[in-house]
Amino acid sequence: MVPFSSLELAADQQGRSLRDLRISVTDRCNFRCGYCMPREIFGRDFAFLDRGEILSFEEIRRIVRLLLGLGLRKIRLTGGEPLLRRNLPRLVQMLRQLDSGLDIALTSNGVLLPLYADDLAKVGLDRVTVSLDSLDPNRFRQMSGSFHNPEPVLAGIDAAVKAGLTPVKINVVVRKGINECCIVDLARAFRGSGQIVRFIEYMDVGTTNGWRMDDVLPAREVVRTIHSVFPLEPVDPNYPGEVAERWRYTDGRGEIGVIASVTQPFCSGCSRARLSADGKLFTCLFAPGGQDLRHTLRTAADDEKLLKLLTAIWRRRNDRYSELRSQGASSQPRVEMSYIGG
Ligand code: SAM
Ligand code: SF4
Ligand code: SF4
Repeated sequence: MVPFSSLELAADQQGRSLRDLRISVTDRCNFRCGYCMPREIFGRDFAFLDRGEILSFEEIRRIVRLLLGLGLRKIRLTGGEPLLRRNLPRLVQMLRQLDSGLDIALTSNGVLLPLYADDLAKVGLDRVTVSLDSLDPNRFRQMSGSFHNPEPVLAGIDAAVKAGLTPVKINVVVRKGINECCIVDLARAFRGSGQIVRFIEYMDVGTTNGWRMDDVLPAREVVRTIHSVFPLEPVDPNYPGEVAERWRYTDGRGEIGVIASVTQPFCSGCSRARLSADGKLFTCLFAPGGQDLRHTLRTAADDEKLLKLLTAIWRRRNDRYSELRSQGASSQPRVEMSYIGG
């Protein structure tokens, strides 16, 4: 039996606890969004992970089980495109069986949701976030690097709503001069629907997207733009440390969120770790590397040894990249988001 109580609520160097784990179940994707997996880099010759390198569902479950003892409360399955991972509902079921109170969410580009939303809801998925950067077919293709129209993504959102995975959050990455013109249309499309659109500042994740500060449209501009058409007022966070800043329509037709990760960093409340598809634990989205857990998992280590390793990684953590970005932190190497899990 693992002595959970002695290790519970381990705090990192900044006094933050581990509450939230993002699990990348695959580094592959059926889209090529330029801000995440630009086609020039992630082309035919790109070396994605082999099957044997990727953690099995049993290995993921074991890590989650141990982290529950350290205070973990929320899980998000992501990637790459998580619905490309075969039998994903089985993983959700396995995680749900560990803890009926664990918050389990999924982030997806939505295209495969009509196939899986019902099954995922039945086995205990709580919520879905769907990424959708424009309703205009040309802008959508430009942002997603795909040959789709937005319709399959909208069908995915519908499927999630029908399956009861609500409210569906709709993530929009805003790139200045590319899809900023789509902000009001997206807000309008989901006003009154019960679903929540969240506008995310374009971030300098990885090193392949050619990010420049000039391409970032500050979240306050997004709020100003929507407010000029549909008046907004601020809403209190749902819980302390919530990443998205909430705004509601003054006419009562719902709310939007903005995530100002670049212009208003929120590292001081960051309780999040990320597990890459091949079993490396990252304590920051912008970390140059992660700590390998797969070797320990696959060399017959007992739970106690693994738990000690997990605790030591978290206790060592001192990350606050976004707060240091303007002080030159951006010159260090960074892993790609599709690998580490968005
Ligand atoms: N493929 C799924 C999807 O797109 O929803 C899940 C993985 S994706 C990496 C997770 C989230 O990260 C998406 O909402 C995506 O828009 C966001 N994202 C990716 N690159 C980003 C960047 N450079 N800046 C801000 N958000 C980004
Ligand atoms: Fe794929 Fe999601 Fe990255 Fe777009 S943001 S390339 S859909 S992983
Ligand atoms: Fe958390 Fe790192 Fe993002 Fe700061 S930069 S909020 S520490 S993931």
